[in-house]
Amino acid sequence: MEFDHILIRFGEISTKGRNRKKFVDRLKKNIKEVLNQFPSLTYEGTRDRLYIHLNNEQHEEIVEKLKLVFGIQSFSLAIKCKSEIIDIKEMALKAVKSLYKSNDTFKVTAKRADKQFPLDTNELNYQIGSHILIHTENLTVDVKKPDINVRVEVRAEATYITCYDFKGAGGLPVGSGGKAILLLSGGIDSPVAGFLSLKRGVELEVVHFFSPPYTSERAKQKVIDLTKELTAYGGKIKLHIVPFTKIQEKIQEQVPENYTMTSTRRMMVKIADQLRQKQQALALITGESLGQVASQTLESMVAINDVTSTPILRPLITMDKTEIIDIAKEIHTHDISIRPYEDCCTIFTPANPKTKPKVDKVSRFESFVDFEELVTEAVNNVNTLTITENQKDEFGEFEDLF
Ligand code: ATP
Ligand code: MG
Repeated sequence: MEFDHILIRFGEISTKGRNRKKFVDRLKKNIKEVLNQFPSLTYEGTRDRLYIHLNNEQHEEIVEKLKLVFGIQSFSLAIKCKSEIIDIKEMALKAVKSLYKSNDTFKVTAKRADKQFPLDTNELNYQIGSHILIHTENLTVDVKKPDINVRVEVRAEATYITCYDFKGAGGLPVGSGGKAILLLSGGIDSPVAGFLSLKRGVELEVVHFFSPPYTSERAKQKVIDLTKELTAYGGKIKLHIVPFTKIQEKIQEQVPENYTMTSTRRMMVKIADQLRQKQQALALITGESLGQVASQTLESMVAINDVTSTPILRPLITMDKTEIIDIAKEIHTHDISIRPYEDCCTIFTPANPKTKPKVDKVSRFESFVDFEELVTEAVNNVNTLTITENQKDEFGEFEDLF
């Protein structure tokens, strides 16, 4: 049985009034990008639906990719046939046969958009239903909670039959909610923060602070791979790699040990914020969770946040580590995050970081160095990569190591 197209239903965006067209256009664009390896697909939009014409393309892989695209409520494999009762009955039967398992239940829900059609909905339901019952075994009718709901939409030009709804990812189309800069470390938390922001329609650019030779190329590859996982939800993502060694060394030299963590984070925020401005993004995003580590107390957040008035989104703020890990596993970032390469913070982590740093103290410590100049230099030397889903791994042999 060949389904010839996929019918996509929108989620929350149907309630968004005036912005609706913008949302739908963005969703279409994201879907096309996620499916760009299938150039023979064609797309057709109506007010509240999107049809993807498969044009003989196999549907399995397309279905898996669509399940991840934010802004889709549900979607179904569909088949189109002539609006003649003989054709409709045959097609509905074929569609059910290709899907059902022994002891499944079904019902038929017909809709007659073409009022000229000679049969009304009751007659349609009855005729199609009995045709299916007669020609199948171990399949019964259940009108309340069927396993298979055969939806038949009779229109003048053609009839559409769908049997099974796949659940979409929900959320809002990536990019419909503006752009933000995600600080991505290589740990477990920040990729999850990125995923949750994408879910609410935020487009991401990613910044990573890299401190060679203290951190290795493999640590960088980890961040590339994490970013690549995030492209499944809305397409390509820019990754800005910031040379951070000089600043970290300066902090080690100048700032008392228990304040180095606070200073490091402040410099990261300053740099990320300058990049944000350059890239015309609206906010920063981190993977912080309240109380998880010394730098994530409210007092620390006050001291770190002091360097900017830009909103910093912290999607994980109230989550427990176990909840974060569960999501990380679901989105396939967990196993990448636990690869053993250190990021710049792990290496410079002081033994006793201050859990209640004071803004005036940290700014005084920093005042002995021209950090502004170092920040500007770092921003000017950023290396920007565009990460796509088909990004190749420079360390091809990597998978074999773990
Ligand atoms: P993660 O699991 O995301 O590394 P964490 O629990 O290790 O988080 P911290 O090390 O305190 O927490 O980092 C807090 C946040 O600061 C991270 O979630 C991330 O957003 C940002 N961050 C830390 N290190 C880096 C880095 N090297 N590059 C970019 N962002 C970073
Ligand atoms: Mg970390």
